[in-house]
Amino acid sequence: MNIEKQKYFKVSLQSYWLSSTSSTNYPSLQENIHVDVAIIGGGLAGISCAYLLKKENVNVAVLEAEHIAQNTSAHTTAKITSQHGLIYYKIKSQIGNELAQQYAEANEAAIYEIKKIIDENHIDCNYTTQSAFVYTQTDQYIQQINDELNTVSNLGIKASYVEDIPFPISDFVLIIKHNFIRVNIYLK
Ligand SMILES: Cc1cc2nc3c(=O)[nH]c(=O)nc-3n(C[C@H](O)[C@H](O)[C@H](O)COP(=O)(O)OP(=O)(O)OC[C@H]3O[C@@H](n4cnc5c(N)ncnc54)[C@H](O)[C@@H]3O)c2cc1C
Repeated sequence: MNIEKQKYFKVSLQSYWLSSTSSTNYPSLQENIHVDVAIIGGGLAGISCAYLLKKENVNVAVLEAEHIAQNTSAHTTAKITSQHGLIYYKIKSQIGNELAQQYAEANEAAIYEIKKIIDENHIDCNYTTQSAFVYTQTDQYIQQINDELNTVSNLGIKASYVEDIPFPISDFVLIIKHNFIRVNIYLK
């Protein structure tokens, strides 16, 4: 949210994930320690790496300059999705199908892995599955949406073209399923 918009709100704006969970406040490191892997940064990336390494019995330390899970990761929209606008057709056209396939598989693998972590640890983070829509209100993008649909379908991502959607926008839509979590609860 930019500064211009903030002036219309009476209270200062805060991330929902931060305001609805308690703060993390781990003590600072006071002595030298020996670990196999030192991870710099306790956001979604660092904590996920630490979790996976720990599962392989690797001795890990996460070194966080401020507070665990309170930086970028605490300000996301909390959707876990392989749908990023019209990205797949763009990747395929610019750098080839193989890299588009890798990008698709990396995204799908991350979704699968996060769900697995939630299930294994019984994390009550309001995980839900919803549809993701890419839409246009002008005819000029219909072809691009069709190209994207063909590309993602060929890459193995489940997607469909619909003309009837549950809110009042245009009629040309690509849907890909995606998922939501409560980020800070998941990270804690
Ligand atoms: C507004 C917004 C919405 C987003 N929405 C989504 C979304 O819906 N879905 C999605 O998948 N992604 C989303 N993203 C992207 C996603 O939030 C980030 O890709 C992800 O959270 C990055 O995690 P991270 O661990 O790399 O970074 P961070 O969460 O920023 O963690 C990095 C940590 O490293 C620490 N650090 C930095 N330097 C040092 C140092 N030298 N020593 C020690 N610690 C250090 C920082 O303090 C910080 O805590 C969104 C991003 C933004 C900004």
